[in-house]
Amino acid sequence: ETMLELEGVKKGYNRGKPSEVLVLRGATLSVAKGEVVALVAPSGAGKSTLLHIAGLLDVPDAGTVRLGGRAMGGLSDRARTEARREEVGFIYQFHHLLPEFTALENVMIPQLANGAPRAKAEARARELLEKVGVGARAGHRPAALSGGEQQRVAFCRALANAPKLLLADEPTGNLDPATSDQVFGVLMELVRATGLSALIATHNLELAARMDRIVRLSAGAVS
Ligand code: ADP
Ligand code: ADP
Repeated sequence: ETMLELEGVKKGYNRGKPSEVLVLRGATLSVAKGEVVALVAPSGAGKSTLLHIAGLLDVPDAGTVRLGGRAMGGLSDRARTEARREEVGFIYQFHHLLPEFTALENVMIPQLANGAPRAKAEARARELLEKVGVGARAGHRPAALSGGEQQRVAFCRALANAPKLLLADEPTGNLDPATSDQVFGVLMELVRATGLSALIATHNLELAARMDRIVRLSAGAVS
């Protein structure tokens, strides 16, 4: 069973202008349920563009995106946003935690925004923070945490609403090699424990080798 399918996806920017760039030239890719796929691409190859299209943050110029077998073409902006909120979790290279809130609150907020009761959101946030080894840091604001701890909290936030698909763009790219290695291990354990499907972009071939499969993006196509 397939969680994510991109078929013949094309995407350009500044169309019809002299500055037009064609980024994706017919990218085709799939991620099975429970599968963790590494996306390896040189800088500028269109990795962020592909992840944004897969995560319903952006729409392709041509081609098909299917999530859980359902075609996403022709959805209204509102329906697309709803599908993204329900199905997809994002992790970036930088944590993007809200600085004025604690780690616990940062993991509760997306749940509260989705209508979860406060007590339930807090219990789930604590459980996730414990799982990734930062339970004791729940009451701290991001600035008081190390880079590795901040990223662990960001993982919890991405999984707070129990998405089915995780999209990550260099999730440990901001960390020193030893921390990156360790924090990546934490992410993989979390993903495996929840049976999530994931597409994880990385330049790090050692990390890529720890995933189920590697796909490469170059010249706007996937191989
Ligand atoms: P990657 O994540 O692989 O580095 P991106 O998907 O961010 O690549 O970008 C691919 C190409 O598209 C780059 O040449 C980039 O400059 C260009 N690009 C990305 N976003 C835009 C945009 N909003 N407008 C114009 N060009 C863009
Ligand atoms: P980049 O790697 O492209 O520089 P960052 O890692 O700084 O980007 O993360 C910011 C990204 O968050 C932007 O590229 C933006 O498209 C993306 N974004 C916008 N809205 C949302 C959203 N609702 N959920 C997740 N990501 C979003």
